[in-house]
Amino acid sequence: MADFDSVLERSINIHGHLCPGQILGVKMAMFGMEQIGLPVPDAGERERRLIVYVEMDRCATDAIQSVTGCSLGHRTMKFYDYGKMAATFVNLETGKAARIIAREDSREKAKKIFPERADPYEAQMQAYKIMGNEELFDIMPVRVDIPPEDMPGRPLKRIACSRCGEYVQDVRDVCRDGHVLCKACDNESYYVKIEET
Ligand SMILES: [Zn+2]
Ligand SMILES: [Zn+2]
Repeated sequence: MADFDSVLERSINIHGHLCPGQILGVKMAMFGMEQIGLPVPDAGERERRLIVYVEMDRCATDAIQSVTGCSLGHRTMKFYDYGKMAATFVNLETGKAARIIAREDSREKAKKIFPERADPYEAQMQAYKIMGNEELFDIMPVRVDIPPEDMPGRPLKRIACSRCGEYVQDVRDVCRDGHVLCKACDNESYYVKIEET
């Protein structure tokens, strides 16, 4: 059974440094897995019965990845850019899901635990280490309806965009006025193509 310190160590190695986000993320992942009845996998292993939805792309996201073994590449980590310190853990076997949200008041509580420490960053980390899950997180029981095209495994569909000609997998294409488009061509592009002159 993985203990907090060894799991944190694993996370620091992957993320590159120790930070409050690592501690919070490791605790969030361990707590989330516990809520849905799954064990933390050994280092280098991944839990195939788990899909995790992360709501931020920050330090804690790396921690959640290192604890669970879930990743974008395995399609077992989904990123929803809500900018929130929260993640949802889904047990694919039972359907049980829990959304774990970092409590806003935990920041203030953490400050009061080691007020004598000169470095507030260090004080926050040490406080997060000893604070209980109930102090750090709220649990929201949820149901996540995962569409088949979001599941790991072979792509269910592959089709060319009628405008740019690029191929779109996994039912991410959109049908607009009878034409198949990729999301970029359907006005969801994050990039602007520079025309060569
Ligand atoms: Zn960090
Ligand atoms: Zn296109």
